[in-house]
Amino acid sequence: MQFDDDAQLDSSQVQDRRGIPGGGLAVGGGVVGLLGLVVALLFGVDPGMFGGSSQPAAPPVGQATSSAQLASACKTGADANKRQDCRILAVVNSVQTYWQADFTSEGRSYRQAPTVLFTDRVATACGTATSAVGPFYCPGDGKAYFDLGFFDDMTRQLGAKGGPFAEAYVVAHEYGHHVQDLLGTTAKVGGDRQGADSGSVKLELQADCYAGVWTHHATTTPQPSTGRPLITQLTDQDIALALDAAGSVGDDRIQQRATGRSNPETWTHGSSAQRQQWFTTGYRSGDPASCNTFG
Ligand SMILES: [Zn+2]
Repeated sequence: MQFDDDAQLDSSQVQDRRGIPGGGLAVGGGVVGLLGLVVALLFGVDPGMFGGSSQPAAPPVGQATSSAQLASACKTGADANKRQDCRILAVVNSVQTYWQADFTSEGRSYRQAPTVLFTDRVATACGTATSAVGPFYCPGDGKAYFDLGFFDDMTRQLGAKGGPFAEAYVVAHEYGHHVQDLLGTTAKVGGDRQGADSGSVKLELQADCYAGVWTHHATTTPQPSTGRPLITQLTDQDIALALDAAGSVGDDRIQQRATGRSNPETWTHGSSAQRQQWFTTGYRSGDPASCNTFG
């Protein structure tokens, strides 16, 4: 994955809360608890998943400074070619530019969703989350949350090969949930949260398909500021790494790694093969309408 060196990044789409203490919570879980929680919540979307306060917390002290630092470090595509956090920001820009254009072409209005970068734990409208839940989208505040340390866990604990475009797939998946939120799909699924045929699995597979749709358009969607695509090159290897990542977060694969067996009755995201299949469906078609996982 290569970014246009001269492209201007829109840093307003990412809020940087890294290094800000989460506020008086006991430090627990950690590596020991990670895999179990990942099984339940990886790339989660359930607004009730964290419990605790349903009130959005006040922005932590220091947030503005930290976001300003990100903005000054991540100005151009050249920065995105060098730094992970700038790259995530650039991917967020590219994904939202695509969906903005898609919604406009369908006569709908797209509302931008900020990404929040955090470390360890973060207060959200869905409650307080720790890094152990993995990346997630919170419909309550319409934001995507990432602890960038997850990408190391994805390789070390879930066996993915990783790489920049594997990370881009995860970002695009979370924005798939934002699109579902805007289209009302999330609300329709309601409480059908578990099992191979559950609404949850269908939502997750559709988010994978939407990630594939963005991938299809990633090198051709012009950025409004330059009229040129922000991403100039994706290779077959990039696509292979996205598929590898999608496979690594399949319920059957994660359950096998954790317990030595797989139990479809407790699936929430779909199997490795399904996740790869739906990413591929979106990638090949480039058409969100092809992502009809609800059949
Ligand atoms: Zn998800």
